[in-house]
Amino acid sequence: MAIRQAETLVLGGGISGLAAAFYLRASQIRENRLENHTGQGKIVVLEGSPRVGGWLDSFQTPEGAVHERGTRSIRPVGVVGKNTLDLVSAIGLDDAVIPVTRSHPATQNRFIYTQDGLHRLPSSLSSILRRQAPFSQSLLSRLIKEPFAVKCKEDDESIHDFFSRRLGKEIAEYLANPFCRGIFAGDSKQLSMRACFPAIFDAERKYGSIIIGGFRSKPEKFPDIGTSSIAQRAKEQKWASWTMTDGLQTFPNKLSDWLVENGVEVRGSNPCSRIEFVQESDPDDGQKRVRVVTENQDVWEADHVVCSTPAQVTQGLLPPKHQTLSNLLHQITSSNVAVVNLEYDNLQLPVTGFGYLVPSSVQSKILGVVFDSCAFPELDRRKNPTTRMTCMMGGAWFHDLFGDPHSVDPSDLLSCALTSIKDQLGISQKPTFTKVNIHHDCIPQYKLGHTGLVDDIHLYIKDHHLPMSIVGSSYKGVSVNDCIFQARQAVTSL
Ligand SMILES: Cc1cc2nc3c(=O)[nH]c(=O)nc-3n(C[C@H](O)[C@H](O)[C@H](O)COP(=O)(O)OP(=O)(O)OC[C@H]3O[C@@H](n4cnc5c(N)ncnc54)[C@H](O)[C@@H]3O)c2cc1C
Repeated sequence: MAIRQAETLVLGGGISGLAAAFYLRASQIRENRLENHTGQGKIVVLEGSPRVGGWLDSFQTPEGAVHERGTRSIRPVGVVGKNTLDLVSAIGLDDAVIPVTRSHPATQNRFIYTQDGLHRLPSSLSSILRRQAPFSQSLLSRLIKEPFAVKCKEDDESIHDFFSRRLGKEIAEYLANPFCRGIFAGDSKQLSMRACFPAIFDAERKYGSIIIGGFRSKPEKFPDIGTSSIAQRAKEQKWASWTMTDGLQTFPNKLSDWLVENGVEVRGSNPCSRIEFVQESDPDDGQKRVRVVTENQDVWEADHVVCSTPAQVTQGLLPPKHQTLSNLLHQITSSNVAVVNLEYDNLQLPVTGFGYLVPSSVQSKILGVVFDSCAFPELDRRKNPTTRMTCMMGGAWFHDLFGDPHSVDPSDLLSCALTSIKDQLGISQKPTFTKVNIHHDCIPQYKLGHTGLVDDIHLYIKDHHLPMSIVGSSYKGVSVNDCIFQARQAVTSL
């Protein structure tokens, strides 16, 4: 069988893989390095499914309402947020962005649910001065004591232990815990502070306090990031988050179009089944090349492979010779999440806001509910708009609550979502649209020791001179912004 040649293969066409291909191609264009007939300069993205985007996955109902199966909004702040907006601009998507500002109710009003009902989380200076349920003291009284908390001497600590130690048990239970459920669908008692919130972890290390660190630490400067007009606009208009016309699937779709227009091959329905490392024929060169075999029996050879597939997938592609690397990757596991999209006619929500999260100490089978129509009414159907919301369930507790995610009955998940919404929001009205999505292994869980594990993975690749890079949500941040920024850094260092 003919071996196809390329300079770089990118495995996985989720946002990480597409971003990696973008930054590679953009640098070739800058350096005026065009492809030649031997495959030099050629970039090929091999995506397993027919669709690009991975967990950026929107769908539209026949009536025109847009729902998200995965990511529903992206934050514009910080270096990583600005970098994403620069990318949006570079592919000509400025006009598709729908922002939400910091003063919008969807930003100001975030709730947690406890046995006593919904509680609005502090979002202003005045709200941290007064005591607000479910907390027994004002937030300020905890913050004042924080600089005097005992410092941790360990290399890593669970998020629960970190916040209990520095800000008290209530903050750990009613803030850190639900946020971990909202971001990672994970358990704050198992997740690593160092890996999940590295800036806060480092602030304690460096300044002895996260509050003092917040004032004194200076973020690393990246003068070429945040230069696009849309990144400037986000700053001036104080955006808090954004989505896109027709949902966030628009982003990977347009990114893929840009790649194809600029000569990158994006091949859908091309699941990779095997990676092999082969020595160049010139023994003096000693350089390894990489061979990738797909399930369709295509064979590709390249100078380098960027693996943006989840760690659990990547470990299964490697040759037996690199079992040690497979074993390291195998340790990065992910949680299963059920996402239930709902629409209601003429619904009056009891509160307006982003939605609410449920701490794990509360008797409830759900992680939280997002009030999608509040943040982005632009995605409601045009005629007779309904109220869209999404209920998230499972995560680190999936097996205990619902059993095997491969055999769970979607109608059980739907009735559990509706019962929770009735009990917690008092909504007993029947939804006019429902869709249950069961996502297997969708959010990586950065457990204690994750940072060391990722360092070991990089070290193995370096020490064995493997022509491969690893990018994606399995390693250094699960947000879309983190994934894109990691991809940029990984290919810049090639
Ligand atoms: C329910 C949910 C809600 C989320 N909400 C948010 C949010 O609001 N904001 C935010 O910033 N982030 C959010 N995230 C996180 C974010 O969406 C993901 O971390 C990010 O999209 C991961 O991108 P990725 O490219 O690294 O991985 P993936 O999206 O997993 O992409 C990997 C790609 O590899 C492909 N693939 C797998 N196996 C193979 C193979 N053998 N060969 C070839 N291709 C293969 C897959 O089909 C997929 O397209 C959410 C995630 C989930 C699941």
